Amino acid sequence: MQYLSTRGNAEPKTFTQILLGGLMEDGGLALPVTYPKVGDAELSAMRSMSYSELAFAVLSKFADDIPASDLHALVDKTYTAEVYCNGRPDSDAAAITPLRELEPGLYLQELSNGPTLAFKDMAMQLLGNLFEYALAKNGDTLNILGATSGDTGSSAEYAMRGKKGVKVFMLSPYGKMSAFQTAQMFSLQDPNIFNLAVRGVFDDAQDIVKAVSNDLDFKTKQRIGTVNSINWARVVAQVVYYFKGYFAATQSNDQEVAFSVPSGNFGNICAGHIARMMGLPIRRLILATNENNVLDEFFRTGVYRPRGAAETHQTSSPSMDISKASNFERFVYDLVGRDPAVVRELWREVDKGGAFDLSRTPYFLRIADYAFTSGNSSHADRIETIQRVWKQYGVMIDTHTADGLKVGLENRETGVPLIVLETALPAKFEETIIEALGQKPWRPKAYENIESLPQRSTVVDVDVEQVKAFVVANS
Ligand SMILES: *Cc1c(COP(=O)(O)O)cnc(C)c1O
Repeated sequence: MQYLSTRGNAEPKTFTQILLGGLMEDGGLALPVTYPKVGDAELSAMRSMSYSELAFAVLSKFADDIPASDLHALVDKTYTAEVYCNGRPDSDAAAITPLRELEPGLYLQELSNGPTLAFKDMAMQLLGNLFEYALAKNGDTLNILGATSGDTGSSAEYAMRGKKGVKVFMLSPYGKMSAFQTAQMFSLQDPNIFNLAVRGVFDDAQDIVKAVSNDLDFKTKQRIGTVNSINWARVVAQVVYYFKGYFAATQSNDQEVAFSVPSGNFGNICAGHIARMMGLPIRRLILATNENNVLDEFFRTGVYRPRGAAETHQTSSPSMDISKASNFERFVYDLVGRDPAVVRELWREVDKGGAFDLSRTPYFLRIADYAFTSGNSSHADRIETIQRVWKQYGVMIDTHTADGLKVGLENRETGVPLIVLETALPAKFEETIIEALGQKPWRPKAYENIESLPQRSTVVDVDVEQVKAFVVANS
């Protein structure tokens, strides 16, 4: 399988070649030349597979330059009940991403049973094993530099801890994460994990990462890499659970389902789009945003207008607080008939801080063919949804999943099973749960006293040179 750039000016690459990289050299994102198709017979064969068998069946189509036996071993090591069972009561967690039925035809898909209690573990754990494998093969090392406001950083650290050849330098805004998120990251004692608390806000931390990445000399010499949401392996690993959810909600391949996806950077739902392009019978992909409705606006109007940092709302579903959606270019590439010249033109505006409007183009007229629909949600909606689900079904959901459920129900069709992707456990967002339900959320055993464990971090100024010096001294 060859990978092209959405902007059309990069040499085709293999899966392994794009595994450790970020953007393609022309600034575009990597996509396979074609989406492998899964026919009726193969779907039937997949129906009874375990999660790791399914992961191999899907991933081997995309990672065809990794020997099958190696890929099998990596997938088997990643998708185990030990990694994806956090002791959640009355869950079939051993099934990995099981459906939880709320009522006939309405399901939550449990994607948050991994080590950091958010869906990002589904892909990030695989990435950790893939990185270690690829680095060992070439005798290489990698220093991962990232900025986080919570979920991505902890997921990356738990995936990379103890991995040979990999070090993680994770920048976070000093004193700005929740006590739980801080404890999750700072209590890690693994010698290859470094937490840097930046005296500033998240954007300061991210600007430092960008400045370091733009220093190509430093980047090459120090072997700097990233694990952000444009990483192709992360996207493709997420395709697997759409298959799993589909099979769990249907009895035969002529049935269709809808997925509702709490969205930020368009990574999760991009995987749903790819699953559908491969032939999975998905009738609707329902994109849910919070008050940061950049993507909802696009699917309603055809206008994509990324916001500035000042226009970005801080909400109670913080992992969806984005100003622009870094994976969206992948979908637009398909929407415009895979014409890189059109993508280049559109992103010339976006990269200058502008917007584009497809509403009067033939592309937007065809948007219905891609099965997307969308909606948004507010703080009041989240509180109301969390309360209702607790009262009606006795199930406690987190704020992001509440956004997905609210928008999903608004777009529900009779007779079509609706699967709402659960993207985090309520334990991560204790404050809002207390606001909604007047009680603390349930916590997995391993996290019961996490705030009282010894913590390890280094406080730094908003100073690129200081961060560079730290990386040099510790890599
Ligand atoms: C990252 C995240 C999202 C958004 O996912 P995208 O792939 O960025 O669209 C939603 N919910 C939670 C809990 C997350 O951590």
